[in-house]
Amino acid sequence: MFIGIDDTDSEKGLCTTYLAAVLMERLRSLGEVKGFPKLIRLNPCARFKTRGNAAISFELESDRPEDVKEEAIQAVLELSDFSGVNTNPGLVVAERVTPRMEAFYRRALTEILEIQEARDLLDEEGIWHRGFKKGRGLIGALAAIGATLPDFTYELIVYRERQRWSTPRVIDSESVWEADERTYPDTWDTVDRQSGRVVFAPHSGDPVLFGIRGRDPDVLETAFRTIRSEPSERRVLYITNQGTDSHILDGEIALVREDQSYRLRGSVAGEPRAIAGGHLFFTLQDGGSALNCAAFEPTKGFRSIVKLLRPGDEVEVYGAVRDETLNLEKINILRLAEQHIHIVPACPICGRRMESAGRGQGYRCRRCKTHAEGRKREVADRELETGFYEVPPSARRHLAKPLVRMMGVRTHPSR
Ligand code: ATP
Repeated sequence: MFIGIDDTDSEKGLCTTYLAAVLMERLRSLGEVKGFPKLIRLNPCARFKTRGNAAISFELESDRPEDVKEEAIQAVLELSDFSGVNTNPGLVVAERVTPRMEAFYRRALTEILEIQEARDLLDEEGIWHRGFKKGRGLIGALAAIGATLPDFTYELIVYRERQRWSTPRVIDSESVWEADERTYPDTWDTVDRQSGRVVFAPHSGDPVLFGIRGRDPDVLETAFRTIRSEPSERRVLYITNQGTDSHILDGEIALVREDQSYRLRGSVAGEPRAIAGGHLFFTLQDGGSALNCAAFEPTKGFRSIVKLLRPGDEVEVYGAVRDETLNLEKINILRLAEQHIHIVPACPICGRRMESAGRGQGYRCRRCKTHAEGRKREVADRELETGFYEVPPSARRHLAKPLVRMMGVRTHPSR
């Protein structure tokens, strides 16, 4: 059986991954979980997400399907925050994963779907499901079961003891830096070196103590054992589509649509523009089409790269299009345009900069009575190198592939 769950938490508390973790434990007497449970991130532009648009699914081998469904309903009733205005839980139990479910997952990653589309597919395929309140979680629950993972990473999520929920988390940050030192680049997004902050723990009242992301279950365990913290209640290792860029579509500027994430190629048109609040924009153009690209304030040091772009630079941008603006997650600088500077000649005697001798009259030095023809046009040094640049871990979208995972290309990773 394949069990999918989504939309059980609210900003105030709880977490769908925690519900799944407790449910998997309760189901031990009824069956065996096969492989790793899946932590699936869906379209980051979905309107009703609480935080990172996550859903969970896992495979269970059991000969007591009715008892399993009963246990799952109980867990949803007990561990969902039904008071949340935007909490609309969905529970799906499927006997198999069909191509239509896989196609539904790919759409849920890249498009905005209606609850009715999930309901129609569930009915047509005869899949058991329960929607609570509006049942919007059926979208994520169904998509999480249909998730195929041609590329994947892992996340080890560690949960807090219940009496500690909503209290400040006790984590020895020195040990987190030590864990990062020992396991990076096989783990990532644990710390943010630019800001000097630990970024792998939430600050909200939910049950998550922290999550360690990486490419290898053994290394995640090493990192976990290095970290000193308050006692944990449980931990679960998830296989996930995080850090894979699976939300990114190859596109063209002329054809982009709202609420979708793209990789687009083009050239920089005009100088980057800063606005109040520390946000930075530039226009990307390709043929006759143009698109606004943004590095918002939370992308911190990434903006200092964007600021160095100049008209004519050829780039490839990655990010989600919202309000007609692409929110940059990464940029690949393919070719730097030649920039020129004009140099006013220096006096051959005293070495000082000469001054204009009048329009079209060249330059002169009054003191030494020297004269020179025109200014010199020289190719300026660019302070920027080609290659990939990314936003820092603190601003990273869950689905965005960190540069530390990109092989065979020139990268400038941020951590
Ligand atoms: P958390 O990360 O804390 O688990 P969340 O950010 O995952 O919270 P949810 O509570 O899961 O937020 O809410 C997201 C809602 O959006 C769910 O009901 C889910 O079914 C729905 N959803 C997911 N993907 C899409 C999509 N592509 N189109 C429309 N709705 C979607």
